[in-house]
Amino acid sequence: MRLADVSRGVVSIGLALLFLLAGLARLSFAAGGEPVEVTGYKMAGDAVHMRVVINFDREPEPKWLLLRGPHRLVIDIPEASFKLDANELKAKGLIKAVRYGQVGEGMSRLILTAMGPFTVDKVDMLANEDSPGYRMAVDISAASERQFEEALAVQAQTTASTTTVKTDRLAQEPHAKRFSVVIDPGHGGIDGGAEGMNGTVEKTITLAFALELRAKLAESGNYDVYMTREQDEFLRLDERVRIARSHEADLFISIHADTIRLKGIRGATIYTVSEKASDAEAQALADRENLSDQLAGIEIETEKQEVADILIDLIRRETHGFSLKFAHSLVGELSNSVGLINNPHRSAGFRVLKAPDVPSVLIELGYLSNPQDEEQLRDPDWRDKAADSISRAVAAFAAAKTAAGG
Ligand code: ZN
Repeated sequence: MRLADVSRGVVSIGLALLFLLAGLARLSFAAGGEPVEVTGYKMAGDAVHMRVVINFDREPEPKWLLLRGPHRLVIDIPEASFKLDANELKAKGLIKAVRYGQVGEGMSRLILTAMGPFTVDKVDMLANEDSPGYRMAVDISAASERQFEEALAVQAQTTASTTTVKTDRLAQEPHAKRFSVVIDPGHGGIDGGAEGMNGTVEKTITLAFALELRAKLAESGNYDVYMTREQDEFLRLDERVRIARSHEADLFISIHADTIRLKGIRGATIYTVSEKASDAEAQALADRENLSDQLAGIEIETEKQEVADILIDLIRRETHGFSLKFAHSLVGELSNSVGLINNPHRSAGFRVLKAPDVPSVLIELGYLSNPQDEEQLRDPDWRDKAADSISRAVAAFAAAKTAAGG
């Protein structure tokens, strides 16, 4: 061995030792609690359902809990270093704020503040398939104050707050609650809706009619009646659905008076939701209505709704049956008092009718593109007759639903 080789040998032994020491140091640091790295945060959904996905470099054993005033979801993890993109944390759908940071010795916390009461449908901790690390997926849905309080009570009983709270409404104990109706005056604020030949604006006529219908339903004393809006304000379509869920609505009635290409066509139409439109006109109308959010400059979520699970599908099927029953009853009542168009029950993919557990219909009272319809819509007597008919249909539906056990 030449001298140069020897010195090279010493250098390599020295390097190896250095690496070894460095490795040991790293090991001991990890054992002493190297912070978990929060490597990503994403959320998708709308004001009704949201999925939140949080990425970690390793499994952090999180605990989550609910807090009220305002409605919050708190996720506690061991001390963490956060490497998050501020853009991903911006308010979206049901979540109006995301905050995070260290709280006390060795603990970090993420706080998600919601628009209103919600329930946690599911919490999953999964190992990433294609890359190292873990991800936590949390599904939440807009709910009523009562449902939020119920989840808080369950949380207080369980020491392990990481167990999924049961939010299955089908399995819940029946509670004393009056039949509740949510009336949704179409359009509002920056979204005026259709306009009649004599200047009637849809958002104004829908609100006027909705207020009259509310008074009529409240008069009976049999229901709790709520409105999605009571003044001239803009509301997102999913926000309207969130309001219906927040009242645990038994019925959601959206009121409209649109225009149609063919000026000769007149009369009322009842719409229910369907994947495939019943006809081209229904499709065109749903497309126009669904544009409401875009009119206000709001970006539409194109992401596929990931949170729809089997339970939601089941509820939706049952809900849809109720929506159809109510639509039939409406057609019957309205045909006795006000004019209906041919095939008065139609369907299309209206976003505002997509609450999974609230029977929902959209009533086109008439067409502002038709001068006679416009005149009727402005006539208090005609509106009174129409509101009477709708009230009778609500009464029949409420009686049948109560008889069937809620
Ligand atoms: Zn409309």
